[in-house]
Amino acid sequence: MAFPTPPHFSSIESALTSLFGDGVTIKQTDRLSGGDINEAYALTLSDNSRIFMKSNTKANAGFFTAEAHGLNVIAQTNTIQTPRILCSGCSEDGRGYAFLLLEFIDRKRPISNYWETFAHQLAAMHKAPAADFVPQGKFGFYQNNYIGAGAQCNTPHEKWIPFFRDCRLEPQFETASSYFDTAELAEITRLLDNLEDYLVEPEHPSLLHGDLWSGNFLTGNDGKAWLIDPAAYVGHAEADIAMTELFGGFSPDFYAAYEESAPMQPGYPQRRDLYNLYHLLNHLNLFGGAYLSSVKRIIKKYIR
Ligand code: ADP
Repeated sequence: MAFPTPPHFSSIESALTSLFGDGVTIKQTDRLSGGDINEAYALTLSDNSRIFMKSNTKANAGFFTAEAHGLNVIAQTNTIQTPRILCSGCSEDGRGYAFLLLEFIDRKRPISNYWETFAHQLAAMHKAPAADFVPQGKFGFYQNNYIGAGAQCNTPHEKWIPFFRDCRLEPQFETASSYFDTAELAEITRLLDNLEDYLVEPEHPSLLHGDLWSGNFLTGNDGKAWLIDPAAYVGHAEADIAMTELFGGFSPDFYAAYEESAPMQPGYPQRRDLYNLYHLLNHLNLFGGAYLSSVKRIIKKYIR
């Protein structure tokens, strides 16, 4: 299967002309808060429509092509809404900057069974056929991408646990190695060597959002949850559910409805922290020592 790359432009102006026709210009630019990696804007166009723009330095243009590919594969499952991808680009004027243009998600009041619907749609995404997204393997993705601003390797693997070791924990531990003493490094090696004792293979591979915390969904104009900012790959669905629990958790209605649609494999609560170790290590590597005690607590929990 071929995965289309979004159209690419060398300026916002040429993007707007190509997307919306001659004479459409930016009437107003409003900076949005909330993202930690990129600058985000609501652009109001001369016809009063709004589009969403993210920008970053030209060196980080890869963030946006990766994000567009992630949104595209989620959209291909026809299970849960994502903003339509308009284009990516690199402006060549001045110092230049990379940009991504998306459909603007207009917020509406959440529907009454918001969390149940979100859970059922996410479970449907996790059940959708995922084989096309990983040529030459069952777990991984057809290209590498990013987790926040960190590199995320997605080399196809036949099995989930080796994938999680080789492409998730090991690279993060390597980057973070200076935070650990010799005894701790030996414990980490032991943990990685014995991951089969703690994790299980899934019943089937699932397309994952990959970075599913509460900042990465918005309520759209249908009153339902729309996924944004994915770090998509094919893995074990419980890794997505674990991340929803990392920074505060979603509503209990969400978990009850997910369980109804796609029952968790027995023992999930004992595996949750190991999945989230990946995200905590990534935060340690990106943002520094504040995350070290959480990382060490999880290592100790598994290596007794
Ligand atoms: P980052 O890549 O820096 O993490 P985010 O994707 O989290 O950025 O987006 C930054 C801000 O823009 C957040 O406040 C988010 O709610 C908002 N946002 C993201 N995508 C859209 C969209 N398509 N329409 C409207 N607002 C959006």
